[in-house]
Amino acid sequence: MSGRDWRVPVLTYHASTVGGPGYAGNDHVAFASDLATATRLGWRIVPLQWVVEQRLGLAERDLARCLALSCDDGTVLDVRDVEYPGQGLQPSLLTLLEAQPGQPDRHLTCFVIACAQARARMDRDCLHGLDWMGEDWWAPELAGGRVGIGNHSWDHNHPVMHEPGPGGMPRGDFHVVDDEPRADFEIRQAADYLAARLGPGACPLFAYPYGHAPDFLVRDWFPRHGASLGLQAAFGTQGGAVGAGSDPWHLPRYVCGLHWSSPEQFEDLLAGLA
Ligand SMILES: [Zn+2]
Repeated sequence: MSGRDWRVPVLTYHASTVGGPGYAGNDHVAFASDLATATRLGWRIVPLQWVVEQRLGLAERDLARCLALSCDDGTVLDVRDVEYPGQGLQPSLLTLLEAQPGQPDRHLTCFVIACAQARARMDRDCLHGLDWMGEDWWAPELAGGRVGIGNHSWDHNHPVMHEPGPGGMPRGDFHVVDDEPRADFEIRQAADYLAARLGPGACPLFAYPYGHAPDFLVRDWFPRHGASLGLQAAFGTQGGAVGAGSDPWHLPRYVCGLHWSSPEQFEDLLAGLA
């Protein structure tokens, strides 16, 4: 498969989803199972960046039977094994990826939240207050070559930020990022923060919080400003595989727990794409 026919599923996990020892409700268990399933069925893991380069015509690789991996919200559970309160030791997604044999191009893109205050509040209010949302791992993991760091906005417009955003922007929703000041606040500010820490152009991919992709951003703001911010593409969570006809500013992803919740459903998902 090459040229116009290629399509690649992008899978999304949340390493902070640790609700028990089983596949449903624990994204570490699901991730390990899914990697084994994909490898057994002859799927090749490739960097998310390759998918974007293919879509933009910057590369033409053979992406037949390939998939790409991403995870959202940026906790240390992405890359470090952590003793989870009440749930035991959780091997990080990176540990599980490193352990997967026969996948020379294996790679994981972690979409992180830029604002330190927002991360501190989420760590306290939504996790366990164990300092899981620091940023000290971003640069070394990026340098390590198995991990990409992506932009998941300034503060996720998360309800832990009690104060309204620009122009009275209500929290808890990303559809409301629908004008210039709000886009600057949520996206430009995050891009600048990541560039200052990781280098210009080091984080060319964006993922919409909650998968909410406002028309203003998809059709207007990103096409005008994306390139100048070092951004090449933006990902939603609308399901479907990325292909030649996908909108670069609203590329689809499949989300674990939303689009599939068992090894059988995962296998069915892949079978539908092969
Ligand atoms: Zn998120």
